[in-house]
Amino acid sequence: ASAMEPPRIRRLDDSVVNRIAAGEVIQRPVSAVKELVENSLDAGSTSISVVVKDGGLKLIQVSDNGHGIRYEDLPILCERHTTSKLSAYEDLQTIKSMGFRGEALASMTYVAHVTVTTITEGQLHGYRVSYRDGVMEQEPKPCAAVKGTQIMVENLFYNMIARRKTLQNSSDDYAKIVDLISRFALHNSNVSFSCRKHGANRADVHSVTTSSKLDAIKNIYGISVARDLMEITVSDDNPSQSIFKMNGYISNANYTAKKTIMVLFINDRLVECSALKRAIEVVYSATLPKASKPFLYMSIEFPPEHVDVNIHPTKREVSLLNQESLIETIQTAVEYKLINNNTTRTFQTQV
Ligand code: ADP
Ligand code: MG
Repeated sequence: ASAMEPPRIRRLDDSVVNRIAAGEVIQRPVSAVKELVENSLDAGSTSISVVVKDGGLKLIQVSDNGHGIRYEDLPILCERHTTSKLSAYEDLQTIKSMGFRGEALASMTYVAHVTVTTITEGQLHGYRVSYRDGVMEQEPKPCAAVKGTQIMVENLFYNMIARRKTLQNSSDDYAKIVDLISRFALHNSNVSFSCRKHGANRADVHSVTTSSKLDAIKNIYGISVARDLMEITVSDDNPSQSIFKMNGYISNANYTAKKTIMVLFINDRLVECSALKRAIEVVYSATLPKASKPFLYMSIEFPPEHVDVNIHPTKREVSLLNQESLIETIQTAVEYKLINNNTTRTFQTQV
């Protein structure tokens, strides 16, 4: 038998490339909400509200009172790799904003219809403009607007039949969005958040700004969670070799739940770390078998050069220097806390 002829290699159309890339950044409605809320936080907002219709497939609308977007920037706003946050690759080492790649809005325009309404300080009116496939559809139209930016994402995945079908049959996307906004609201307790279904008069998350984390937890997760928490702080003894600082709240022996809730922020970025979560669950089930599914809120701070923020398309994970020793240190601190249930002393440790 003769060898099979090699197939020709062709260059994909930009539109195909962009839609494939967009499908990785925006995996489900909740990924779009995360990107939009992060943009609102990056814009210095103190109030962010989210409205969702049909689990996010029909409509996701995020309104904020941040600094707005300049008129001159609207033409390139939704092009790929346009950003006000990063300019040189090296900035990634020290970047404080949650966004940096200029991909989120662009991605949304490749898989949905995006309309932006925005007004900047001192302007008499705002502008409204729609985008499709990275491109502004017409000149921005002057319109009435209140301070900040509102972004509407409609008909998500209208051009990805399979994705839309699988999501239509899943009822938990709205729950995922509520969970996400709860996490943001807990960590950013100086910002008021609300999240509601379109047409509902009651919000499912409604946070008021507070300087007390415990009040924030009470407000968002309820009194039954807040009353069974202990504050925990971990830091290095030797400030000159300081690797990280952690503070947060963890549930005590009285708390019972069917599943672990772990709200983790590293350098103010909402991330997941299943290794850390498992390590802590192990301590709980060994120390407090009855309370083995804990509630955990942890905010960890590292020198930025020890965190690689650019390892995941949805930025859900970050990569850390010395991750194992970090996990061990936190595990030890949690264990100490659980055994000495009533102490509120700062846990000192040597890394
Ligand atoms: P990135 O956040 O990585 O810069 P995005 O595509 O998410 O990329 O956003 C592109 C740019 O649009 C941002 O850099 C920012 O300047 C602007 N922008 C997006 N959302 C908002 C907002 N809610 N308020 C003000 N500016 C915004
Ligand atoms: Mg962004």
